Amino acid sequence: NDAATDAPRVWFDGKLVAIDSPQAPLTTHAMHYGSGVFEGIRSYATADGGAAVFRLPEHMERMRKGAELLGIDFDVARASEAVLETLRANRHADAYIRPLAWLGSGTIGLDVAPLTQHYMVATMATQVHLAGKAARLGVSGWRRNPATSLPPLKLCGGYVNSVLAKREAKQRGFDEALFVDAEGFVVECTGANVFMVRNGSITAASHPDALDGITRATLVELTGAHSRPVSLEELRQADEVFVCGTAAEVAPIASLDDAVFGDNPLTREFQALYARIVRGAEPRHARWLTVV
Ligand code: PMP
Repeated sequence: NDAATDAPRVWFDGKLVAIDSPQAPLTTHAMHYGSGVFEGIRSYATADGGAAVFRLPEHMERMRKGAELLGIDFDVARASEAVLETLRANRHADAYIRPLAWLGSGTIGLDVAPLTQHYMVATMATQVHLAGKAARLGVSGWRRNPATSLPPLKLCGGYVNSVLAKREAKQRGFDEALFVDAEGFVVECTGANVFMVRNGSITAASHPDALDGITRATLVELTGAHSRPVSLEELRQADEVFVCGTAAEVAPIASLDDAVFGDNPLTREFQALYARIVRGAEPRHARWLTVV
């Protein structure tokens, strides 16, 4: 198997294998019903030549909650070790990490008890992107999954809601969709939480239907932002709007429908601070990093 050693490796049910070798049966429950749970995690190259994962325990704990809800056994310590082993096997430093736990085969029915359970981790090298273009946000015609129907965890099936909103936003010429509830309150974007700045004060939009983002919690702690419900009207009148998430990091928003924002100076500061922290350049936040 020497020829395959340079091929990317994935963790699949307890071992590292070449990325194209595992096969899931076509009757896989998660493929039919979305009965799986995933995470989106990042690792970064650090100044000492190594790499570190940002807030790995928090990501794995959120994944455990989703797994528990689906009746999937989930060992946080072993699942976390698999993340680190996959990164090492692929020699990845700046990477996006995708763990997935899912229900496999055993029945085509909805009772999950007879089903096999699986776990995988894929890692993908990411570009170190410099401050990109600010995104144009459009209010979605879709509502977010209500928490009373589907808890805001990273359950696979729930992301069909994000896929529809993203598709609609792109078709209408926007970069990203903003979910707003029936009362006009801001929920979140398809894969990121929302912040605003007004007269120098920073607010993180809170909503029961929004994912409790780990980047959001990080920025609330760093900036002292107030976490509270925000109406769409209030957001439109903000001086700056930004969204944040593991993949998005801290992303400035250029416009919301026809409302245009300025050049987002505070957002750029938070973006730079976040970039230093995740790369280990801020020793007082080293507790958020797990060395690979
Ligand atoms: N909301 C949604 C719907 C998401 O998918 C994500 C990405 N996980 C976020 C918010 C941001 O969460 P985090 O900062 O934990 O990545």
